[in-house]
Amino acid sequence: MECRFCDLETKNQHKFVDVRKHCIVIFSNPRLMKGHLLVIPKRHVLNFVDLSEEEQKELFDTTIYYQDKIIKTLASGCDIKQHNRSFIPENDLKVDHLHIHLQPREFEDELYLKSQIFDRGIFKPLSEDEVFEVCNLLK
Ligand SMILES: [Zn+2]
Repeated sequence: MECRFCDLETKNQHKFVDVRKHCIVIFSNPRLMKGHLLVIPKRHVLNFVDLSEEEQKELFDTTIYYQDKIIKTLASGCDIKQHNRSFIPENDLKVDHLHIHLQPREFEDELYLKSQIFDRGIFKPLSEDEVFEVCNLLK
């Protein structure tokens, strides 16, 4: 299957917000809210670790720049998200090409009221055993 995020400049199917040396910023389509942007490395990789340090730096610098712009112009807040879910096959909402979501947020916005409000029931107190177990796994 052809990658929807490779060669975006030549496909010209998205309205670009910004094109930099190693990454591109486009509108998410479909989108969750007004101003939902994607920051995408030009090179096809699945994980941050697969990018060079120069590519990583530009990707994060660009993400930070647009989060700040969104907060100053478009919304009261802005989430930065990256999903690594190789267990889900690629589909119309999932592309196996690394990308970062910038999602402008407001107090009790549609995403919160229809989805994230239910996250509250998932939170549990952190146990000492869990801290020990996970710390050992991450060493
Ligand atoms: Zn790709």
